Amino acid sequence: MSLRCSALPKLAVCSSFEGKRGPAGPAALRGTTVDYEWRKAIFEMVGSDEEFDAWDNSEAPSELNADDLASMQWGINAATDIAGGALIETRASKLKVDIPHTGSTGEMDGLIEGKRITFDLKTGMIRNYREQMAGYALGMMARTFTDDWTCYLIFCDQQEVVRHEFTHDEAFDIVKNIAAAYHTDEKQPTPNEYCGWCQHANTCDARLIAANKTFGQTARLIAGEDFDEILGDEEALAEFLDGASVIGDYQAQGKTRAKEIGGINGWKTVKFKGREFVDKKALPGFIKKNGLDLADVLGYCAALPANKLRELAGEKADEIISRGKEVIQLRKTKKDK
Ligand code: SF4
Repeated sequence: MSLRCSALPKLAVCSSFEGKRGPAGPAALRGTTVDYEWRKAIFEMVGSDEEFDAWDNSEAPSELNADDLASMQWGINAATDIAGGALIETRASKLKVDIPHTGSTGEMDGLIEGKRITFDLKTGMIRNYREQMAGYALGMMARTFTDDWTCYLIFCDQQEVVRHEFTHDEAFDIVKNIAAAYHTDEKQPTPNEYCGWCQHANTCDARLIAANKTFGQTARLIAGEDFDEILGDEEALAEFLDGASVIGDYQAQGKTRAKEIGGINGWKTVKFKGREFVDKKALPGFIKKNGLDLADVLGYCAALPANKLRELAGEKADEIISRGKEVIQLRKTKKDK
């Protein structure tokens, strides 16, 4: 069975991972649309006589709003800065590459073969994509008979570029080890942050066992144990959170289903009016026309993101930018054996 290059980061944490089939959700479709428009815009910057690839997804592209277009433009600027005047190939027909050990072909978003550089545009959160990049790098090194390759991940929503450099041996080991684990008979599912995207999310034994342990802890609470005992015991707390995250996922699916069918016994749907909003583009003219005090209006505006002010004012923006308190988040990681 072939391994998709985009699944390599998920397979690195669980060799039983299998991507969900079916139509893409809104976030994935937005990502595909931003990707396509990013590639097209870069292709058109070169001024070629040829037509760019037609949109070939079975679903119609998302409608991109002003924020989506701003993210995409940031991604274009980031890639062209890295390219430093070199031509970035973005046509799909030139970006497919066979990935050794996987039996599959991956598709990069951008390529400068002469500089041994690959680009991948990502929307959404910053995640680990090193193994996917290793796949592209290995494929390109095999195709071009080279020994090193650099992959740039452009996280356009987060406005951050992550660079991964590979020697041939490094990329080879990463891809080969994931493929070997995937083809092992005794592989054990390992719950991880990608379970929600896995075809087995609702049937996976490892998830059911985790959820069951949490139900077991709940049964002990009914029998008179105190939740403080779980809070005070690191192992019990880890077990509780592992199972609760599975139950939380089931709860989210249950709520979505109940909403779809218009409510169920004990749960009803409630309709709220759409949120009112002010047309940003019309605001400056409106302020001027009606003699409003700019400082008063700005006082009601939501906080201006620091990176947006930097885009407008460059380094001068730092005169009035300060940083809030450090935020600590809890994220699921791989367990120690
Ligand atoms: S649902 Fe199961 S098989 Fe899928 S990624 Fe999670 S642990 Fe692995």
